[in-house]
Amino acid sequence: MIKEIIKNEIKFFNNWQSNKKNDIYGIIEKEEISKYDFLNILFNSDKNILELIAKKAKLLTDSYFGKMILLYAPLYISNFCINKCVYCGFSSLNKNIVRKKMEIKEIEKEMIALKQSGFDTILILTGDDRKNSPVEYIGEAINIAKKYFSEILIEVYALTYDEYKYLVSKGLTGVTIYQETYDEKLYNRLHLAGPKKDFYFRLHAPERAIAAGVKEINIGCLLGLNKNFLLDVFLTAIHADYLQRNYTDVEISISYPRIQPAESAIKIKTQVNDFDFTRIIMATRIFLPRVGLNLSTREKSYMRDNLIGLGITKMSAGSKTTVGGYASTTEDTGQFEINDRRKVEEIIRIIASRGYRPEFTNWVRI
Ligand code: SF4
Repeated sequence: MIKEIIKNEIKFFNNWQSNKKNDIYGIIEKEEISKYDFLNILFNSDKNILELIAKKAKLLTDSYFGKMILLYAPLYISNFCINKCVYCGFSSLNKNIVRKKMEIKEIEKEMIALKQSGFDTILILTGDDRKNSPVEYIGEAINIAKKYFSEILIEVYALTYDEYKYLVSKGLTGVTIYQETYDEKLYNRLHLAGPKKDFYFRLHAPERAIAAGVKEINIGCLLGLNKNFLLDVFLTAIHADYLQRNYTDVEISISYPRIQPAESAIKIKTQVNDFDFTRIIMATRIFLPRVGLNLSTREKSYMRDNLIGLGITKMSAGSKTTVGGYASTTEDTGQFEINDRRKVEEIIRIIASRGYRPEFTNWVRI
């Protein structure tokens, strides 16, 4: 179903681009906006209307989510990966990286360190390597996480229904899986080899996870992969809208990570600037007022601070993109460069200074 929707929406997008109209003021006054209106906001580069969009985005964020930002921490437990994604530091194309996988005892130590920093939501990550990080290994990590965290999400390779079901039985509550780009041809060019090359197996993963009992899904596209990045933003939002309409008891959220330099990765040709990025966040908030929007430490501190209140509902803090690194220090290469290296306490202080409540526990979900 989502396969057909994506195909049709690409046609719609291309058609809209050749007939676009820009009555932006009328759109901002509407209670609910259509996908036409969403595109109108996404494509409006008039800096004067940014303030109007910001006001609307803030109003919707506060009324649907309250003045609250949920904090979470990513924990990489393995960086083994057999895929050849040309934009990623963990790709098997990267021969310089030290490959590492944590033992269960080490994982527990890292989790205790995160718990001591206050976290109650954890995102467990691995590369795509079923031999080094089999589903049973991820299950064991979830089992340990259950002792310390209320919310346990994974960002691993796309799984089958049975595998998701097994992980749900271990305590899994949510799945993060980014399509990276919804442009199938480009996807093929960026994923040279490995299981991730299967575009549709990945596209259908969120629904397999939901069918298996997962209660939270986070999807996204990697901004900068596609020259036509607004197409990816549009299709990510359409995908989230589809999931939200069809699975009303599941919490749906979106991330728009901007690509960062990574060791052995391609030179990034398309930079999404701060102005465009801010507009993308706010436009998505206005189009999908009930969808969560996540922001990672890929973003620079000034961007993270300024986006509080304009749509963001969840932020990572004090993150490491190396395997481990919370309980011990490491010099290893991370999956991508972190731009906001501030400590958790500093993030808490900033959120509070903006009039928002930093929260570690997702009480709505619990
Ligand atoms: S993006 Fe994921 S699957 Fe691709 S190389 Fe990096 S870790 Fe592996």
